[in-house]
Amino acid sequence: MNEIATQIETFAALLLEQANRARALSDEKAVDFTRRPLRIGIAPGDGIGPVIVRQAEKALRCLLQEELQSGSITLCPIEGLTIENRLEKGQSVPEDTLSQIKTCPVLLKGPTTTPGGGTMTSANVTLRRELDLYANVRPVCVPDLNIDWIFFRENTEGEYTLGSRGIELEGLMAMDFKVISVAGTRRIAKAAFDYAAQHGNCKVTIVTKANIMKKTDGLFSQVCHEVAKDYPGIPVEEYYVDIMAANLVNPDLRSSFRVVLTPNLYGDILTDEAAQLQGGVGTAGSANTGSRYAMFEAIHGSAPRLIEQGLGNWADPESILRATVMLLDHIGCHDKADLLRGAIDSVKAKGLHVSQDCLTCEAFGDAVVSALQA
Ligand code: NAD
Repeated sequence: MNEIATQIETFAALLLEQANRARALSDEKAVDFTRRPLRIGIAPGDGIGPVIVRQAEKALRCLLQEELQSGSITLCPIEGLTIENRLEKGQSVPEDTLSQIKTCPVLLKGPTTTPGGGTMTSANVTLRRELDLYANVRPVCVPDLNIDWIFFRENTEGEYTLGSRGIELEGLMAMDFKVISVAGTRRIAKAAFDYAAQHGNCKVTIVTKANIMKKTDGLFSQVCHEVAKDYPGIPVEEYYVDIMAANLVNPDLRSSFRVVLTPNLYGDILTDEAAQLQGGVGTAGSANTGSRYAMFEAIHGSAPRLIEQGLGNWADPESILRATVMLLDHIGCHDKADLLRGAIDSVKAKGLHVSQDCLTCEAFGDAVVSALQA
């Protein structure tokens, strides 16, 4: 009974904290990411992170030569975002590393390892919260299958807000928490509908499991439909996440999707599935954006098994290169984003890819840079 009383106290504190967080959520106007001077942080991360991030940095240095020379853009190495340093300091993102990151409105980040179990929060969850990166934007494009999707995944709430802070009655049961707020949902919904409005009023598909998670997903659904009323020209539909997972691989339906709007966990899962249709997680990049900061990364993790098998040099850098295309677009360098997109596509069109029979990660990066210089 004492244990239950203690957990009730823990829950009361969490509830209070989350109510305060939800009240304080801001919908402030985004800073102008096209303003100069601009500092771009580069954090290599863990596992295959350093080798893939190196390819992205090579491409950035090639494309931004003039800006780097004039000082209008600076690439800033970020130190300490490694699992060794994080474990040693006992912090998911050590304070000095976070301070470095906060000097850069834009961050290019390699994947970071999160130990299973224990209490160490994922570095990504911490960064998304600390930098208030509420929109996780993940495009998936497969022209041969007539697929052109863009996922808007809420990035700071859902199961992730209190993911390391569930409660447990030892030997009996455990509970985790899912948190959805009105303000948190409204801002991701607005981001998705704004994108749809800017792209020919294309359809928005909302994904929930509101038939089961009635409070949280019910609220997400309700707020998304409220926001939709401000965009009368945009067709809206809603699917439950289980059938949406099936629909993404249903040839009769999948081409009809364009903008997909999801809470945090469903977006995480669906985008890995979607990326698989494009050639695997190694081909997909993502943007994590907020009003003051933006972070760009691959959608995948640090691939520890590739490293254990000595195959790190065959990690596919396409994911982080695609994220770099998104970064360039976000900072207003649209022509350079198009050049990089074209260079990646042209290398792939030649049949070049990362594999032990073809190119290493470095060689793929070099081929992209050569295509940029051609
Ligand atoms: P993972 O994404 O690292 O790997 C999944 C599979 O995809 C593996 O077979 C891996 O070899 C392969 N893969 C991933 N990226 C690849 C690439 N660029 N080229 C070729 N193959 C690639 O997922 P996981 O094994 O579940 O997670 C490993 C670690 O990464 C965990 O600690 C996890 O917490 C972390 N993680 C970090 C992020 C992030 O930093 N954004 C995202 C997901 C997972």
